[in-house]
Amino acid sequence: MKVMKFGGTSVGTAQRIKNVAKLISNQERKIVVLSAMSGTTSSLIDFSNYLNKKNTDGAVEVINILENKYMSHIQELFSSEPYIKKSEELLNSIFSYLRQFTREIFTSTQEKIILSQGEILSSSLMQLYLEENNIKSLLLSALDFMRIDKNKEPDTRYIQNKFSEIIDSNPNYDIYLTQGFICRNAYGEIDNLERGGSDYTASILGGAILAEEIQIWTDIDGMHNNDPRFVEGTTPVRNLNFDEAAELAYFGAKILHPTCILPAKINNIPVRLLNTMEPEAQGTIISNKLEKGKIKAVAAKDNITSIKIKSGRMLLAFGFLRKVFEIFESYQTPIDMITTSEVGVALTIDNNKHLNEIVDDLKQYGTVTFEKDMCIICVVGDLEWNNIGFESKIIEALKDIPISMISYGGSNYNLSILLSSENKINALRALSKNLFN
Ligand code: ADP
Ligand code: ASP
Ligand code: MG
Repeated sequence: MKVMKFGGTSVGTAQRIKNVAKLISNQERKIVVLSAMSGTTSSLIDFSNYLNKKNTDGAVEVINILENKYMSHIQELFSSEPYIKKSEELLNSIFSYLRQFTREIFTSTQEKIILSQGEILSSSLMQLYLEENNIKSLLLSALDFMRIDKNKEPDTRYIQNKFSEIIDSNPNYDIYLTQGFICRNAYGEIDNLERGGSDYTASILGGAILAEEIQIWTDIDGMHNNDPRFVEGTTPVRNLNFDEAAELAYFGAKILHPTCILPAKINNIPVRLLNTMEPEAQGTIISNKLEKGKIKAVAAKDNITSIKIKSGRMLLAFGFLRKVFEIFESYQTPIDMITTSEVGVALTIDNNKHLNEIVDDLKQYGTVTFEKDMCIICVVGDLEWNNIGFESKIIEALKDIPISMISYGGSNYNLSILLSSENKINALRALSKNLFN
């Protein structure tokens, strides 16, 4: 069985929902994971922010605009009176439920319930559309089987048991439709897998049923060799290894959610990135295969803060790094990049929530400086240390740009460079020119 995940833009209009219906209507059995229609999750976050600020007028306005959008989507999507009526009833029930939150005290639990409505809407509309067109499918609520634990990690055993049980007891379907992104937490409350998390749902479910393939359908023909939002003339990368894809996703290639490679890698399930607007395009296949000696792609991750600790006492001092790391651990702040010298250590974080406390605590071990608004540029490919020449090509491309840190050797697939965010676009363009032209 395959898992096919369709992102927000792939179901972003009535016409696109119809296109997806065509793509899934064959006799192969498949799990179809849907995101919310594009813009919906952002509107629901907006709605929650107004509620949080106790601005009921603002909240109502956001919800009215969203409801009107959906009202026009259903006019275009359905052609028969009974289904227009059914879909109107669906919208009425969801939007009156959402309006109820304007009369209650706002909490983070409520925010998660609000955010879940986007995927519930898109999957319910798809189910109705399939029904109207006599295409047999079974709509499954992700809230019945997707669960995260107390550390916000997927509870894979629970998901595998529950999901297999549901599929096995409903064998006679070609299409099992469900929502991406949404889940329950360890307390049984509605929760989610964070922004862009529908990719993660797809790969977790792929792992749970040992799918033959996980397909991520989006608005571009696969992983490009650089960020198409900032660089012209990027081209699709046909093959990626699991580790290369994981590095790219983590370091900013928005086409994939950072965590979604692991379940596929563990179970050796190929992941295919495909374009809903151009279904015949080849896209990208992510698998266990490695193409020798090739630089594949470049990505960039913003909002990075670098922290440098300079210490005379570091000289030959065992235990120094442990003490430094313990401070980050105590504030639950992961470190992305790290470089060391005999007199100091430089590292980066992407979460400034506890920056002041971290800097304060680090001061007991040395002189501490930090810089915000930095960006990690990550070059990915077969960068095994015996391969020669790739480092010089990368550095040559960036010869006119100030570089704050360089990190290589942690993996065979990644060389990372830290620079100021204002130089990001120039750096990405220069790298494309030197590495791919
Ligand atoms: P979806 O809504 O389908 O999940 P996303 O917006 O999350 O889609 O991801 C697709 C977008 O990722 C593309 O439209 C593109 O702008 C962006 N993107 C960033 N980096 C890359 C890359 N290296 N290759 C392809 N797309 C990328
Ligand atoms: N709808 C969610 C979001 O916009 C999840 C997803 O699309 O993957 O972040
Ligand atoms: Mg996405």
